[in-house]
Amino acid sequence: MPSLLSFSPEGIYCEQAGVHIDPWRGVDRAIITHAHSDHARGGSRYYLAHPTTKQLMHARIGRDLRIETLWPGQTGTINGVKFSLHSAGHIPGSMQVRVEYKGEVWVATGDHKRQVDGISEPYEPVRCHTFITECTFGLPIYRWKEPQEVFAEINAWWRGNAEQGVCSVISAYSLGKAQRVLTGVDHSIGPILVHGAVANMNTVLEGCGLRLPRWEQITADTPKERFRNALVITPGSAIGTPWTNKMRPYSTAMASGWMQLRGWRRRGNLDTGFVLSDHADWPALLQAVQETGAERIIATHGYTEVFSQYLRSIGYDAVAESTEFAGEEGAIEERQKTQGESPNDQGRS
Ligand SMILES: [Zn+2]
Ligand SMILES: [Zn+2]
Repeated sequence: MPSLLSFSPEGIYCEQAGVHIDPWRGVDRAIITHAHSDHARGGSRYYLAHPTTKQLMHARIGRDLRIETLWPGQTGTINGVKFSLHSAGHIPGSMQVRVEYKGEVWVATGDHKRQVDGISEPYEPVRCHTFITECTFGLPIYRWKEPQEVFAEINAWWRGNAEQGVCSVISAYSLGKAQRVLTGVDHSIGPILVHGAVANMNTVLEGCGLRLPRWEQITADTPKERFRNALVITPGSAIGTPWTNKMRPYSTAMASGWMQLRGWRRRGNLDTGFVLSDHADWPALLQAVQETGAERIIATHGYTEVFSQYLRSIGYDAVAESTEFAGEEGAIEERQKTQGESPNDQGRS
């Protein structure tokens, strides 16, 4: 009997049900873990996803996608295979996929984190026999501070700038990180202004019931004075373009797990960096593995070799599988290696 999930040229595949999870090419039926562009792609005939992911996919990929929804804990059955979604804690709507057939259980995580971020449903440990996990930050050097500490640093930077009439421009992914920054900072310091890409995601998420603090979209009419004590949240690709001229003088920062590596700030021409990630750090990856009770672990993206090798050394049956999940935080490292680009050059939609 073939294994319940396997890795096909299109992605993670359940042959018994004829379903792919986060396929990177168009397939007949796809289950999507979350709406980041390396996991949610167009071109498939039918999709199954969390209701929030459905709305995000319509906004980011297209209105014409055929997407059925499943709430966390609900079970869908296809040809005898049971599928259910369980929170991955990564961004709003992000889910792990649990797959069960004849008593055998697999879980595919997509991206996940254990830190509670104030916008995503908290991570839910799920028991399984085989656990397919990302390991974007699967090196022992990655250990995150408590988010409150990081937000105290961001607030201090913003407050210091505001007192001098300098605008604070922070680079954050438009989906997930931007809303986390918006929710975590101290709104008494000044107004929070956002790029159109962030505004679009905010609007979709608010439509899905997420409550966000006050924000306003930057337009051509936004007066220059408005920026003086403001925090601007934007995708990094907009920084340094004519779009930021009106914000001068401004200070730049990035919120990302990669900021733990000092070199990133310099290469990205950033004034400062804050270590804030939507992925599990090393201890959290190990904890996630342990809590599943799984004996077999498949590491899919990030430091797959290091992480799977470590798991083997402590007694797990662990392997690395190569996939085409690479966007988001993972992309920075790939792009740096191949093109010498900075984390500021993220061309994300
Ligand atoms: Zn993601
Ligand atoms: Zn990913």
